[in-house]
Amino acid sequence: MTSVKGFIVNALAGTGGVTFLPRLMAGRATVFMLHRFDCPEVGVRGHDLGFLRQALGYLRRNNYELISLRELYGRLVHDAYSVRREVAFTIDDGYFDHAQVASPIFAEFDCPVTTFVTTGFLDQQFWFWWDQIEFIFESARRPAISVGVGDKTLQYQMNGPGKRAESIADFTDYCKTLKTEERLQAIALLAEVAEVEMPRKPPARYAPMTWEALRVAEQQGMEFGPHTVTHPILSQTSDEQSAREVTQSWEKLRRESKNPVPVFCYPNGRFLDFSEREIRIVRQAGLCGAVSGEPGYFDRGQVMKDADEGFRARRFAFPDNMTDLIQYVSGIERAKQLLRREA
Ligand SMILES: [Zn+2]
Repeated sequence: MTSVKGFIVNALAGTGGVTFLPRLMAGRATVFMLHRFDCPEVGVRGHDLGFLRQALGYLRRNNYELISLRELYGRLVHDAYSVRREVAFTIDDGYFDHAQVASPIFAEFDCPVTTFVTTGFLDQQFWFWWDQIEFIFESARRPAISVGVGDKTLQYQMNGPGKRAESIADFTDYCKTLKTEERLQAIALLAEVAEVEMPRKPPARYAPMTWEALRVAEQQGMEFGPHTVTHPILSQTSDEQSAREVTQSWEKLRRESKNPVPVFCYPNGRFLDFSEREIRIVRQAGLCGAVSGEPGYFDRGQVMKDADEGFRARRFAFPDNMTDLIQYVSGIERAKQLLRREA
């Protein structure tokens, strides 16, 4: 038997490549994960809108099937899949730009998209901790900040190219290792030593969409799924909190939206951020699947073999250039995965 590498290289080199890549992708769909969208009026830097339009236009022209997450899961039940390559879009968290900026663009291309909302955020109970960190470092007037946390002192220089961005990334990473309470304390302390007054409501650039805006976006074709109430890393929560985060976000969304998608999205989304416990809870809540943030294809074959796989489905972060986009959706990335596995 020829090696996987030999097989792929031969197929790509010959005319066989034309039919080979689609076969390599049979049973696999590309699910993209997006976050913020450019909105310069309020200072949001996110996905470039020109590139998003270019990408959606490319997928449409090249006969990809733009499919909703709901339909992707629906096809599992019927064991049916399209002969065209399937691509699904998802957006995480529920910021205002998802409804105001992204929804009309996806509607322009008649492209289904599922946005996962953190329901307590939409209820305006809090704003996200990572946005608070960014806000503090960007508002700080002191030239240096030194925060004593636990048994160490974190030191940050504010002046110089890229210094603030580095500090934001470092402190955010540090906070990811903390439990919710400790994290809130660390951020409060950071604000104190940086001498930054924290507004109770988020500044415009960090604001959620309103429930009213969600319903308008829903009419434009955007669909919505649950993404917890408070966006904790679920593997760090108690049994009670984990269950509450899943069921209450789903119940709230069912009350507020017309036809929510019964697919859950784990906060932070790496495999270590949730466990068997969450899969059980999500199932018990009556949801039919869940997505992670681990990179990879939505693999129908694996889900057929092990139903739990549908509750830890993989997604690719949406790229910022056409070369990467084409690699993901065409199957070139799949060929590369196989080569890496063989190596
Ligand atoms: Zn999230």
